[in-house]
Amino acid sequence: MKIGIVGCAGRMGRMLVQAVHQTPGAELAGGSEAKHSDAIGEDPALLAGLKASGLKITDDARVLFEASDCVVDFTVPAATVLHAGLAKETGTALVPGTTGLSADQQAVIEDAAQSVAIVQAANYSVGVNLLLGLTEQVASILGDDFDIEVLEMHHRHKIDAPSGTALALGKAAAAGRGVSLDDVADRVRDGITGERTVGNIGFATLRGGMVVGDHSVIFASDDERIEITHRAADRGLFAKGAIRAAMWAASKDAGLYSMRDVLGFD
Ligand code: NAD
Repeated sequence: MKIGIVGCAGRMGRMLVQAVHQTPGAELAGGSEAKHSDAIGEDPALLAGLKASGLKITDDARVLFEASDCVVDFTVPAATVLHAGLAKETGTALVPGTTGLSADQQAVIEDAAQSVAIVQAANYSVGVNLLLGLTEQVASILGDDFDIEVLEMHHRHKIDAPSGTALALGKAAAAGRGVSLDDVADRVRDGITGERTVGNIGFATLRGGMVVGDHSVIFASDDERIEITHRAADRGLFAKGAIRAAMWAASKDAGLYSMRDVLGFD
């Protein structure tokens, strides 16, 4: 299975190249980077700390899509949208891990999924996908007398907030309650906010150090509190999950799939 990595010089990109190397049956088709990146022309395997592959990082993503059975994309929203268009045009499966997409950008992914298989997840770890299922289940059992808060912490370099995983957890909690997250989300609190609105789902964001990704969902009533927490210890975890998704997607019909489909959780 030939797997291409766009943004292969990024923090996740390098991990993804390593994960392809470690996955039986997977072969690195190549890597691409942004037009003015210093990494253009470099060997993606060497950059990831592996033995030389003879491949050169390109700034022509179309060439990479044509050479790949599936492309994995952990870049920035504007690039991911362009890559979704290329997936559609070349018929190449796509695993877009980029977070922080606007509703319009998400619509482009959904349009491409009518032509090719796409596995999109805010988080490709087994543990977080389990947490998503548990959150939905607990929210469906507990009533509005339990306030739901989602707390996340990430490293200082993260550019979007709340994290895609925190929002996915909020969506799971809202789904458990049979409401839409957009109608009940308190994404930011500052100043004289007034009392907490019954039924809302709150978010709190911490940034610092090199934290890979911590997420907690807190259910708080007058009498008791339930907290479910996941802590990622190594970002290689997301890379391994994304390559597993890529191997799975390459043989699937067109459609927008989740990591829960890949893991068989549903
Ligand atoms: P990063 O800044 O280290 O890497 C992004 C890379 O994309 C950079 O090397 C950049 O040059 C490259 N890039 C930008 N535009 C490009 C283009 N047009 N073509 C090719 N490459 C391009 O960031 P990161 O920490 O690796 O995170 C990347 C994204 O992945 C973020 O949105 C982050 O939130 C997300 N992420 C998702 C998961 C998950 O499990 N879904 C896990 C970790 C990170």
